[in-house]
Amino acid sequence: MNKKELEEVKKVVRNVPDFPAKGIQFKDLTTLFKDAKALRTVADALVDLYRDKGVTKVVGIEARGFIGGSILATELGAGFVPLRKPGKLPAITIKKSYTKEYGVDVIEIHQDAITPDDVVVIHDDLLATGGTMMAAYELVKTMNPKKIYISFICGLKFLGGLEKFPPEVEVTTLFDY
Ligand code: AMP
Repeated sequence: MNKKELEEVKKVVRNVPDFPAKGIQFKDLTTLFKDAKALRTVADALVDLYRDKGVTKVVGIEARGFIGGSILATELGAGFVPLRKPGKLPAITIKKSYTKEYGVDVIEIHQDAITPDDVVVIHDDLLATGGTMMAAYELVKTMNPKKIYISFICGLKFLGGLEKFPPEVEVTTLFDY
């Protein structure tokens, strides 16, 4: 991972104050995704982390996790699996509900998407409180893959989301705030 290049990438991310609610500093990664050099740096850094780990499936969390997740899957020669909001996946699914700051949310995955032979990376763009990723991790875990890795492009370290995950799970962010 090239730390210096990733520091440059971090500068490309747009901060939008008070979106979607007052007091939130929203990290807008669309300015990173539209920048060819920054996108290349992120793709290379993600692939470097998992190159030799025998990954067979990358699970991307709707919606921003689909971008880095598909890149990672393609570059690793793995398959891509969408983890979606309720009612979007057409075949038989398994679900998990989890508590968010305001109310409860549900995520779904096709029941045949992951098998016990799989080595899985679950990917999302940004780690905030970690609630969404923890629910995704628990859902994928019920499908008994050989191993689960967790990947983010960036993390809001000060929110302490990393502490939600069991110590045996490898959680990576490419850069942090
Ligand atoms: P959380 O469950 O709190 O870790 O939040 C997860 C989701 O919300 C991630 O998929 C992020 O894309 C999004 N998110 C939360 N906070 C922010 C923020 N400050 N800037 C950008 N995205 C955010």
